[in-house]
Amino acid sequence: MAGLRTLFGYFMSNTAQQLLHDVFGYSSFRGEQEAIVAHVSAGGDALVLMPTGGGKSLCYQLPALLREGVAVVVSPLIALMQDQVDALKQLGVRAAFLNSSQEANESREVTAQLMRGHLQIVYVAPERLLMESFLALLEQIELGAGIALFAIDEAHCVSQWGHDFRPEYRKLTVLHERFPQVPRIALTATADAPTRAEIVERLKLEEARQFVSSFDRPNIRYRITQKDVTQKTSARQQLETFLEHEHANDAGIVYCLSRRKVEETAEWLKSRGWDALPYHAGLDASVRNKNQRRFLREEGVIMVATVAFGMGIDKPNVRFVAHLDLPKSMEGYYQETGRAGRDGLPANAWMAYGLGDVVSMRKMLDSGDAPEERKQVERQKLDALLGFCESTQCRHQTLLRYFGEQHPGDCGQCDNCLNPVDTWDATQAAQMALSCVYRTGQRFGVVHLIDVLLGKTNVKVSQFSHQNLSVFGVGKAISQAQWSSVFRQLVAGGYLMSDIEAYGGLKLTESARPVLKGEAEVWLRRDVEVVSRKSSKAERGARAKEGYAEVSDDPLWHALKAKRMELAKEQGVPPYVIFHDSTLLEILNRKPASLTEMSQITGVGQAKLQRYGDAFLAVLEDR
Ligand code: ADP
Ligand code: ZN
Repeated sequence: MAGLRTLFGYFMSNTAQQLLHDVFGYSSFRGEQEAIVAHVSAGGDALVLMPTGGGKSLCYQLPALLREGVAVVVSPLIALMQDQVDALKQLGVRAAFLNSSQEANESREVTAQLMRGHLQIVYVAPERLLMESFLALLEQIELGAGIALFAIDEAHCVSQWGHDFRPEYRKLTVLHERFPQVPRIALTATADAPTRAEIVERLKLEEARQFVSSFDRPNIRYRITQKDVTQKTSARQQLETFLEHEHANDAGIVYCLSRRKVEETAEWLKSRGWDALPYHAGLDASVRNKNQRRFLREEGVIMVATVAFGMGIDKPNVRFVAHLDLPKSMEGYYQETGRAGRDGLPANAWMAYGLGDVVSMRKMLDSGDAPEERKQVERQKLDALLGFCESTQCRHQTLLRYFGEQHPGDCGQCDNCLNPVDTWDATQAAQMALSCVYRTGQRFGVVHLIDVLLGKTNVKVSQFSHQNLSVFGVGKAISQAQWSSVFRQLVAGGYLMSDIEAYGGLKLTESARPVLKGEAEVWLRRDVEVVSRKSSKAERGARAKEGYAEVSDDPLWHALKAKRMELAKEQGVPPYVIFHDSTLLEILNRKPASLTEMSQITGVGQAKLQRYGDAFLAVLEDR
């Protein structure tokens, strides 16, 4: 028996390997994929925790092809089902979807195909799946052609704490109750432990094997830039410099906190010649859909958005995610930046951050009408994020540590690793700053406080006779920019807080006392002066190593992209459904001269080889 099972295992893995190559065009599994595919194909339940870009879809798509019957994939992302199904069809897989966006006759046709046992994979919106008539249909299918598995994508939607909560997701336990023999695989890219526990409980996955991958995103370069306090350069100018230097033709997302800022920023970028579009929940659904569609189907579109734009942005070649405002938490930062570089090619996570952000985020939390308990949690989350922003350690390491994962640090490509940041003993400066706050009555904003420390005589100083204070002019040895950095870090570190009643004036907190008394030291990061600098040699080197930035000038690269766009338009699919950038890049670098050579390129399975092999070979020959 054991022998037989080994034989069965051998046979299975061999077939899985074969399908991986023939259908998907990949030469090997990534990370946990192989174990997951084997487990689910053998009928086991699984909970898969894998970061965005980790390769989750394969974990249910391959078992779907290995097992008898149709695989039912539950997904909340109606807008994306079409693209997912198109992508599968390109691979020669018989796939379809059922959701409310469809015409009645279309969905009748899909149902008929299901009944005939024609489909290998069907994507279903949760509300459709839960309809009694559909469950009854599934029962019939189970008796006939069979159900290969249930895949529950974006499984974190069962959690009411995330903003992707879908009440219908909680009813999905019905699958287990009515189809106990059909394996279930739940998948999510949400890294935090409480959500994971909630998924297990809510979906009754106690028995499921858990596959937890590393949540590191090695291809994302995290970078946090300080906003220029003198306001000589605005944050959006800083953004533009970043775009000009590194993303002149790339697709990316710019996150802003408010709808108004989204619209203003999109307008401004447009006026500066960038192909930018706005996206927020206040826009008409038709406008939102149109903008999302352009972002997905065209190349080089910049989406300026609130966090309403997010879950299920499956576009693999988002080359950057920029934050003009602070996210709300580390979870938010990880998720939002995680939308970059799904294809594994280098991508940037860039954020501009300043004292104003700290003050306004704190204010927003304090003035909201959430219960005090909730506010407390949110404050802690914000503090963790601020600590991350001010950290001088490797970003990958700091980020992962927050999610309970070890990382050796020294990634060699985040801002802190590329340009190591000094810390300095700022105890004395902190004492000056804190006592300046105290002596001026704990009601002034940072601009005035710095004027007093620098000993500037101006109307406001005279009006309050602050030139007579002992702190007046004691801080002349430190520049204005550095003072501003000190204040930002004191607020971020919780020594100072903004007083809502005093219109955001700063006041001392309990933590300030030991500093003032000389009982505690304060070490701060030494910010690099904000100048719209060109990227450093080290940064350019890091990019060139990956061979991505360099190709943007290669005419052959443009010719390959043009061919891809032409084919995509012909078929009404996004270009990445034809070939991912990574596949195109490999074609460019290896210049296959025959179909056989073409078939060795990652991402070129048999169906795509047949359909597009000649077209791309012709492009190569023309050069
Ligand atoms: P996720 O859903 O986890 O974000 P996807 O399933 O979209 O990730 O896969 C991310 C990228 O990795 C896609 O471009 C996909 O084609 C690619 N990919 C997945 N598995 C493999 C593999 N075994 N070998 C090569 N590329 C892979
Ligand atoms: Zn690093």
